Amino acid sequence: MRDAGAVASSDAFLVPAYARQPVEFVRGEGARLWDAEGVEYLDVQTGLAVNSVGHAHPKVVAAIQEQAAQLIHVGNLFHTAPGEELARRLAQSSLGGRVHFANSGTEANEAAIKMARKAKRGGTIVSVHRGFHGRTYGSLSATPQESKQAPFAPLVPGFVAVPPTAEALRAAIDDETAAVLLEPVQGESGVYELGADVLAAAREACDAHGAALIFDEVQCGLGRTGTLWAYEHAGVLPDLMTVAKALGGGLPIGAVITNERFAAGFEPGDHGSTFAGGPVACRAALAVLDVVQDPALLARVRETGERLRHVLAELPGVVEVRGRGFMLALELAAGRTEPATDLVGRALREERLLLNATGPTTLRLLPPLTITDAELDEALARLARLLDPTQVSQ
Ligand SMILES: *Cc1c(COP(=O)(O)O)cnc(C)c1O
Repeated sequence: MRDAGAVASSDAFLVPAYARQPVEFVRGEGARLWDAEGVEYLDVQTGLAVNSVGHAHPKVVAAIQEQAAQLIHVGNLFHTAPGEELARRLAQSSLGGRVHFANSGTEANEAAIKMARKAKRGGTIVSVHRGFHGRTYGSLSATPQESKQAPFAPLVPGFVAVPPTAEALRAAIDDETAAVLLEPVQGESGVYELGADVLAAAREACDAHGAALIFDEVQCGLGRTGTLWAYEHAGVLPDLMTVAKALGGGLPIGAVITNERFAAGFEPGDHGSTFAGGPVACRAALAVLDVVQDPALLARVRETGERLRHVLAELPGVVEVRGRGFMLALELAAGRTEPATDLVGRALREERLLLNATGPTTLRLLPPLTITDAELDEALARLARLLDPTQVSQ
């Protein structure tokens, strides 16, 4: 922990876009982090679903070190092997088409939206309430949250938001629709899984009207829910899928994965990004895939997630547990005096536990997929103390 004075002086030149906790981390290993004073913390927040293979995973570190010493950047006007290999692995593990790289989740969604609009020669983009797709203008326009959109109006035209139900989607999708953009498990709004019926209705309506179905798996993909891709639970395939967050093991990389139909979604000149698909980020991502594309790891995430759901439901003040695998939210009784955001601060100070609040009564847990059972039990014990009303703090 840092004292308030030190924090104020060190971030004096940063635009205050983030509410930062007064702690400076200097090192990580697996599910553990250490601050500048050498104090150890347990991380079940993972930089918001980024550090899925834990901090400083030896395979990721080795891949980055090796590649950095060979070639860091050459640009997209030449071939480099890591990006081509990563594209093959991503496509073959999911939709069977091709891959277009980006540097982040929001950019992956921008690319997917552009591909869908190009294919339809215009058209509307349908998204659903509680969805989150990123902060750039296209993705923000598909993120129907007043507080995020209003200060930045006017937004991009041609975006429609409806409730996340099968009926609402069926009613909204018509011949003018270019794409439907959905998170199979909505993350940022507090872990709400869209039912298989909702995804299937979107699939059917998109097929009937020649629209692209885009799944945003930026947060829920790459093993987070206990299957490599979250859509596997419902068995509904999208035309385009976006991934990012966990993909680079902490390095910035995003991707759009297409099916066969959209495999030629862009031609030279349509879209591009200087850094996208660079060799270092792609080598890191290949190492991440080596870890998470493991049936035993995924089975453990599913089974342990199920156990976690039951344990979490018994904690004091918890009225609901949502999600699956290692993407879980706790809904706290509304009567609790302490808002979840304060709880997160107290978790850090008193329990040395990193977790996340998505709203005043909602905590989100996103442990590393590689966390040990002992570390998980320790995190649960800390969480239990935190939620124990007899222990509310000094
Ligand atoms: C975080 C997130 C994004 C945005 O990703 P950035 O890398 O922050 O741009 C988009 N979609 C979902 C579902 C996310 O969770």
